[in-house]
Amino acid sequence: MKLSFGIRGKLFFWYFLFLLIFYGTILALYFDIHQIMRISESIVNQHYRIASIAKKMGENLLSMEEHEKKYQLLRKKEYLQLFLAAKNDFENSLREITSLVPAKEKSSGPWWRIAQSYRKVVSQLPELENSPPPEKAWIPESAINRWIDILRRARADTEEKIVTANIQLNRRGRTAVRNGLAGLALSTLVGLVWSLFFAYSTIRPLKSLIYGIRSISSGRSSRPIAIRAKDEFGEVARAFNEMAQRLHEEEHMRADFISMLSHEIRTPLTSIRESVNMIAEEVMGDINDRQRKFLQIASSEIGRISELLNHLMQVTRLESQVIQIDPRPFSPFPMLAKSIERIRPAAVAKRIQIRMLAPRKLPTVAGDSKYLQQVLLNLLGNAVKFSNRNGRIELRAEPDSDKKNLKICVYDNGPGIPENEQKLIFTKYYRAKDIRDQMDGVGLGLNIAKHIVEAHHGSIWVKSIPGKGSIFCFTVPIA
Ligand code: ADP
Repeated sequence: MKLSFGIRGKLFFWYFLFLLIFYGTILALYFDIHQIMRISESIVNQHYRIASIAKKMGENLLSMEEHEKKYQLLRKKEYLQLFLAAKNDFENSLREITSLVPAKEKSSGPWWRIAQSYRKVVSQLPELENSPPPEKAWIPESAINRWIDILRRARADTEEKIVTANIQLNRRGRTAVRNGLAGLALSTLVGLVWSLFFAYSTIRPLKSLIYGIRSISSGRSSRPIAIRAKDEFGEVARAFNEMAQRLHEEEHMRADFISMLSHEIRTPLTSIRESVNMIAEEVMGDINDRQRKFLQIASSEIGRISELLNHLMQVTRLESQVIQIDPRPFSPFPMLAKSIERIRPAAVAKRIQIRMLAPRKLPTVAGDSKYLQQVLLNLLGNAVKFSNRNGRIELRAEPDSDKKNLKICVYDNGPGIPENEQKLIFTKYYRAKDIRDQMDGVGLGLNIAKHIVEAHHGSIWVKSIPGKGSIFCFTVPIA
């Protein structure tokens, strides 16, 4: 069958979504960090540098002015040297700054203006190095003041750019943090939704499957599992439903077959039993002791087979819920006493001591006494059957802790039941491994008891220690 969106597909989808978020976040962070690097680089390498060179140029201009004045006054050659050094520095700085500014500012803007005006002034300067320089001003004071003014404004402008870049840096940093947090929150959300979705889409069909399997293994008929998923769970559910349907049909066929067989056998068996009894009772003429003994054996064997057939038919009817329990209030003590009396001959034959320990005043219960007595007879019958000679059996009854049910228990000190078999003995045809070959039986008594008790909305259970004995209990609602 074609799977449209299986478990593998779901896992891949979520994995892909995670990867998408992961790489998306990394990419956004990468762009943010790249921008931050670019802005900080422009601050450090361009704006700070321009600001510091502009400052130095201003100092050079002042130094040029100062040394020129000193030279004019004192005519010392070293002032001329210092003037020339400051001039040289200024020219170098001007060159450096023009290389730093953006291309569009190279042919306009403050630096371009200074460079133009400086070149013009310098071209008119007399030869200063070789011949004794003239006494009139070399660089007009007005030009120097103008340049200093341009420099001041350019520095202010650069500082403003630094502030703007810092604001941008801060903004980018915030965006990066926000993007990182958004990625984290989104992946957490997706992870959470995914876990919930996966848990929901996995646990729900699994629960239905477990319920279905349990209801089959506990003998209850299983309703089809409604899993509409198109994934592997849907496949399993369909396979399970098919299997349950097959089991159900086979069970039905087997029940029909048993019921048919039991009916077919029971009728001739009754005639045979009647005939044997009539011969044993000498209705047809005298018989000797040996003949009587064999006829009695035949009669008891026929009785055993009839009982087995009765059991088989009863299970079939209980399972198909043909039998309707008609609950009526009744006092349970007489039923308990009657059951003990019915079982006593079998107990006496095995020298088993059987005691009734239930108080006479028991609360009235609601149920069908005929069926409930059968439960009791099955439990007592088993206790007698499985106990050794000289054993001890007790029948107790008391209201349970919340006084809603009457608890009836049969105690024996027989062989007990191994722990791993205690749950199984209530299933149809199950018989403990150790006694299968030694004792008679078909494994239906407890199953019938369970059906009857559950039809009364009660429960039945066993507690047993192998080698020490067993306690079988069941509850009946108090009226
Ligand atoms: P059957 O008695 O025909 O075997 P039951 O359904 O009555 O079938 O009992 C099922 C199995 O439970 C028995 O075969 C036996 O192994 C176990 N069992 C029932 N009652 C007792 C008991 N009182 N002591 C030990 N084993 C018991």
